[in-house]
Amino acid sequence: MNSFFKKKVSGIEKKTGKGRIFKGAAVLLGAVCFFGLLQEVTCQPVKVSRTDTAMGTVVTESLYVTEKESTAPEEVLERIRALEEDTLSYRLETSEVYRINQAAEHSEALVQVSEKLKGWLEAALAVSEKSSGALDITLGSLTKLWGIDKAASGMEEAVIPSEAQILEALSLCGYEKLSLSEDRLLVPAGLQLDLGAVGKGAALSEIAGLLKEKEEVSGAVISVGGSVLTYGSKPDGESFRVAVANPEDAGGRIGYLELTGQWCISTSGDYERFAEAGGKRYHHILDPDTGRPADSGVRSVTILTKDGLLSDALSTACFVLGTKQGLALAEEFDAEALVVDNAGKLHMTEGMEAFWHGEE
Ligand code: ADP
Ligand code: MG
Repeated sequence: MNSFFKKKVSGIEKKTGKGRIFKGAAVLLGAVCFFGLLQEVTCQPVKVSRTDTAMGTVVTESLYVTEKESTAPEEVLERIRALEEDTLSYRLETSEVYRINQAAEHSEALVQVSEKLKGWLEAALAVSEKSSGALDITLGSLTKLWGIDKAASGMEEAVIPSEAQILEALSLCGYEKLSLSEDRLLVPAGLQLDLGAVGKGAALSEIAGLLKEKEEVSGAVISVGGSVLTYGSKPDGESFRVAVANPEDAGGRIGYLELTGQWCISTSGDYERFAEAGGKRYHHILDPDTGRPADSGVRSVTILTKDGLLSDALSTACFVLGTKQGLALAEEFDAEALVVDNAGKLHMTEGMEAFWHGEE
C-alpha cells in the first residue's frame, strides 16, 4: 500500500471509531485489489525505455508492453546489431557488404546477394534513378576519402582531399555501373558500396516486423540515429509526437509531427556529422555530382512515409537536391517532406501540413 493510502487510512482513524476504521480500510483494500485485478484482466501496458548504441549511433526505445519481463527491447537492439554485422557494415569483416567490397576491390566481381540485401539494393537504386543519382549507394571510395564519420567522432583529423583525389574517387563510383539480376550482383573493379544513407531506415522496417510478432507490445517509438519508427498506439490513446531538431541547436526542436500508427520518419541534416578544417565545416552528405559536401541551400530534410528504407533514402536524396527538387522527389514517392533551408525557413509538401506542429 502506498503512502497516499496509508495517509487516508490514518485520517479516517482520527475522525472515527474502530469499527469504521476497519470498514474504511476494507473498502480501500478492496479498491486497490479491484484496480490491480482490472490491470491484470485488461493487461494495461506499461512503458519500458532503454538507450544504447548500434550502427554507430544512438538507439532509443520506448515500448508499451503488457508483460514487464518482455524481452522485446533487447531483441530490437540485437536485430539492429545483427543487420549491421551480417549485412550492412562496410567496416565489419562479417558483413555481406564488406565481402562484396573486398571481392570488387581490384577486379570486377560477380557476387551472390541475399534476399534481404537484394531488396534493399533494388529500393535504393529506384531512388537513385528518380533522383538523377543524388542518392548513390556506390560512393564508398568517396566517403572513405573524406572520412567525415571518423573525423566527426574525433577518431581522425579532418583532411580535406584535393580536387584530383576527389575526381579519382568519383571515377570509381556510379550506381548505374551496378547490374543486379536474379540473386547476382555485378560490381565493376574498384567500386565500393556504402549503404550508410539507407541502413538505419532499413532497420526500422525490420523492427516493425519483429514487433508485429510480439503480442505483448502494443505500441513503440524507436529511433536509430535520425530515423524514427512509430508503432501501434499509446495506452492513453494519445498520438505520438516526433520532434524535428533545430539545425541551429540540435538539442532543441523547431516543432514536432503528430502521428498515429506505424510511420517512419528520417531526417538528414548538415549538423548531424561534420568535421572542421581550416575554420570551415564539412558535413557528411556528399553531392555525387561534385564529390563534395552537398551545398543545395538546405540545412535539414525530414521525410515521413510508411517504409523505413524509403524515408532514409529520400531524406539524403532530397538534401542533395535542395528545396524545390527535393519536395518534388518526395511527392513522386508519395512521401511527405519538411525542408529547413539555409535561412531557417520551412518548406513542406501539402500532406505534411496535417502532421506538423511548429514551435510558437
Ligand atoms: P545519417 O547517416 O546521419 O542518418 P544520411 O541518411 O543522410 O545521414 O546518410 C549519410 C551517410 O550516407 C554518409 O555518412 C555517407 O556514408 C553516405 N552518403 C553520403 N552522401 C551520400 C549520397 N549522396 N548518397 C548515398 N550515400 C551517401
Ligand atoms: Mg538517409
